[in-house]
Formats: sequence, structure tokens, C-alpha cells
Amino acid sequence: MSIKTNLSKIQSQLPNHVTLVAVSKTKPVEELMEAYEAGQRVFGENKIQEMANKYQQMPKDIQWHMIGNIQRNKVKYMAEFVDLIHGVGSEKLLNEINKHAKKHGRIIHCLLQLKIAQEATKFGMSSEAAHTLLESDDFKRLENVAIVGVMGMASFTDNTAQIKEEFETLKSTFKSLKNINPKLTEISMGMSGDYPLAIDCGSTMVRIGSSIFGARNYSI
Ligand SMILES: *Cc1c(COP(=O)(O)O)cnc(C)c1O
Repeated sequence: MSIKTNLSKIQSQLPNHVTLVAVSKTKPVEELMEAYEAGQRVFGENKIQEMANKYQQMPKDIQWHMIGNIQRNKVKYMAEFVDLIHGVGSEKLLNEINKHAKKHGRIIHCLLQLKIAQEATKFGMSSEAAHTLLESDDFKRLENVAIVGVMGMASFTDNTAQIKEEFETLKSTFKSLKNINPKLTEISMGMSGDYPLAIDCGSTMVRIGSSIFGARNYSI
């Protein structure tokens, strides 16, 4: 099936309040352009330099989301243009993002990544750490970053009940963080394999790659 067909099929399943982030990591610009021509404007990448290269080559009305783990020394390559950083897991990283955002006179929107999966391999903050961060004076002094929500990745498993429980954990952490900061609006959860469930559990942003662009080939 074509990228265009895949996109319209997925779009038809999404409620209006849910944003589709087309995860285009490892895919060539020609394939991203197919999605662009079909109307897609939000793209997610997990490597900063790959995202910056694609940004250079593509139309400027695209919103670029960074969804991967971030090396602090590479923040400078995306500070000028990135629209949303999903994977923020520490105040150190926020400080770095703030510093570079300031150089460009921007306020960069970020999501706190929460660890919701039981798998040790998945990255993210504890709910307690996220609360502490939002309440800290050091964080409140950062003028060039805005936390607009949370992000999480469920376990890689066939156990739907477990995935549901993990998504519900993220939703309830979101609710309690929203008591501290009423400006939080986004819950980024759901990928190709689990996005309908994520939407049922309150997702506002789904990150979908292989169901749009086909399987990835990491050996390239
Ligand atoms: C790759 C990736 C996705 C998309 O995964 P698919 O299963 O291809 O939809 C979503 N979120 C993150 C953080 C990813 O790294």
C-alpha cells in the first residue's frame, strides 16, 4: 500500500484532538515528501543530525518532533527549528535546551518522558522525579523552555492488559502533574502496534512509523 493510502487510513481512525506524528526515522526524503504531498506536516525523528539534514532539504512549514533519546552536545543542531522534544528526562537536559533556545530567541516546547514500562530497557523519569522537577525553582527560572505534557512508551509485549495499565499510569501521572502546571495539554503515547488502545486511554499524540512508511531497515 502507498504512503498516502496508509496515512488516510490512519487519519480516518483518529479523533480530532489527536495529533499524528509521522515517524520517519531511517526513511529517505523522497518518502517523507510523499507523506508531505498527502498533507502530513508533523514528522518525528530519533536522531538529531538526521532530522537536521531532512529539515534543510524539506519545505519549511513542517513541524519537526524529536522523539529519541537526546545527547546534550547535539541540542545545538536542532535548537533553531525543532517544534517539540518528546524525550526530556532530566533537568540537566532542560538547562541545555533552554540555553540554545535562548540563543535563537525561541521557547522550545518539551514533553517529560516518564518510565511506564516494566522493561528495564525503557528510558524515562519516575512520576516523583517529574513532580519534583516541575516544582523546582531552578526549573521555574528557565524562560526558553515550556513543558507542555508527557510522553511514554509501553512495554513491547502482546499482553494488552499490561499495555493498558502502562498507558493508564501515564494518564494519571499527567493528571497529577497538571495540578501543578495547568498548561500541560499533551499525552504522547501510542505507536503502530498499540495506538488505538493509547487513544482509548487518553492519548493526544500518536507516534506512528511502520504503519505509514513500512518496516524499517536498520542495516542501511
Ligand atoms: C520508532 C519510534 C516510534 C514508531 O514506531 P512504529 O512501531 O514504527 O510505529 C514511536 N516512538 C518512538 C519513541 C520511536 O522511537
